[in-house]
Amino acid sequence: MLAKLKRLFQDRCPDCSEPLVAESDHLHCMKSCPNQHYKEETYFHLNLKIIYHS
Ligand SMILES: [Zn+2]
Repeated sequence: MLAKLKRLFQDRCPDCSEPLVAESDHLHCMKSCPNQHYKEETYFHLNLKIIYHS
């Protein structure tokens, strides 16, 4: 079950397949491609997820 849930979250860049770099604190979590292709921000208190994918 946990493994299934984990797959819902993006952890590699869709463009270059580099592992995303994650930063998080109690309000938000940010994951980004080291080569700037992809960025995802999750705001827990707003229940909001923003994805930047150029
Ligand atoms: Zn990338």
